[in-house]
Amino acid sequence: MTLSFSPQLKINLEALQNNYKMLQTRRPPARTAASVKADAYGLGVSHIAPALCQVGCTLFFVAYADEAISLRKLLSAQNLEADIAVFNGPESTTVKQFQDYRLIPVLNRLDQMKLWRPTGRPGILHIDTGMNRLGLTSAELNQIIEQPADWADLPILYIMSHLASASSPNSHQNSQQVTRYFQYIEKMGNVWPAAQSSLSASAGLFLDHSIEENMTRPGLSLYGAGPQDHEEPTLEVVATLMAPILQTRCIKAGETVGYNATYTAQKDMNVATIAIGYGDGIPRSLSNKGHVFIDNIRCPIIGNISMDLMTVDISALSNTPEIGTFTEIFGENLPVEQVADKAGTIAYEIFVRLGPRIDRIFTPLDQ
Ligand SMILES: *Cc1c(COP(=O)(O)O)cnc(C)c1O
Repeated sequence: MTLSFSPQLKINLEALQNNYKMLQTRRPPARTAASVKADAYGLGVSHIAPALCQVGCTLFFVAYADEAISLRKLLSAQNLEADIAVFNGPESTTVKQFQDYRLIPVLNRLDQMKLWRPTGRPGILHIDTGMNRLGLTSAELNQIIEQPADWADLPILYIMSHLASASSPNSHQNSQQVTRYFQYIEKMGNVWPAAQSSLSASAGLFLDHSIEENMTRPGLSLYGAGPQDHEEPTLEVVATLMAPILQTRCIKAGETVGYNATYTAQKDMNVATIAIGYGDGIPRSLSNKGHVFIDNIRCPIIGNISMDLMTVDISALSNTPEIGTFTEIFGENLPVEQVADKAGTIAYEIFVRLGPRIDRIFTPLDQ
C-alpha cells in the first residue's frame, strides 16, 4: 500500500538488463541492438536506454527522427554514447537533422538512398523479402545489382530485412524470407562487400532456423513479453501494472454492475472498484472477460470497463481488501501475453497504449 491512489507501472531495470544479456546469447557473436521506438514500447525510454547502455548496448532503433533527436539529447546529457538508427529513414525535410545529431538512417527507398548519398555518411539498407511494407523491392534490388558502380560510394553498414511471420514458428514464410534474404546478401556482395547482415527482431531470435547474422534488433522481448504471443520462460518479467482499490461493496443477486448493466449478479457478491480504465489504455474489450490479481486470487472483471475505473468480483477473497490495496493488472501472476490474448490483441499494443496517468516506477531506483 502507498499513499498514491493512481495506477503504477513498475519497471524492473535489472530484469531488462538480464533479458538483454540473454538475447545476446541467442546469436553470438552478433551485435544486439535495442528497438526503443514509441518511448521504449510505452515503458519510458529515458530510463530504459541508459540501463541498456550499462550492459553494453551500442545501437538503438527508433521510428522517427524526432524520437532519435530526443534520445541523442538524453544520452549526451548522461555522457552516454551510442549509435541511433531511424527505421523510417530521412526525407528532404529531415536530412539535416540526421547529420546534426549523427543519426543512422534506414534507407527504405531508392529516393532515400539518393537523398542520403551526398552526405557521405553511412546508412542501413532495408530490403523487402516478403513483408511488403517498407524496403527496396526486388525490381529495385536487381537494378542496383546490375549497376553496382552507381551505388558503391554510398556507405552501407548493414543490409537488413524484416520477417513477417516470425511470431508463427511453423509458417512457411519464415524459411522463404530467410532464403530470399541470404540470396540477396550474396548478390549484393559486389556492391557493398563490407556490409553486414541483420534479419531478426524478437520473434526471429526464437525461431529454430539457423540464421547467421551480424546484428539483431529486438524490442518486445527486452521488455519481458514473449514474441510468439505466449510466455517465454527464458525472459524475465520487466513490467508490472498495478492499480489501487477505491471502494468495495456488497451487491444482491439480481443487481447489475456498471454502464449499460452488462453484468447481472447471480448471487449476493462482493465487488471492488479499481482505479484504472480505458483512459489509461486498458482495452475495453476486457469487460466481463479479463481478470485482476488480488491476494493470490484471479478476480474476474465484471461489467463494462469505464474510462477511469473498472469493477471486479472479489467474492472469492477470504477478507475484504482495504481501500488503497494495489491489485495486479498484468505482471508475474497475470502474464501480459494472456491479458492481451483475452483482449483480442498482442502484448505490443497493451504496452504502447499505457497512458500518461500511470506512474512509471523504475527499480532499482536511481541513486
Ligand atoms: C519494431 C521493429 C523491430 C523490433 O521488433 P520486436 O518485435 O519488438 O522485437 C525490429 N525491426 C523492425 C524493422 C521494426 O519495425
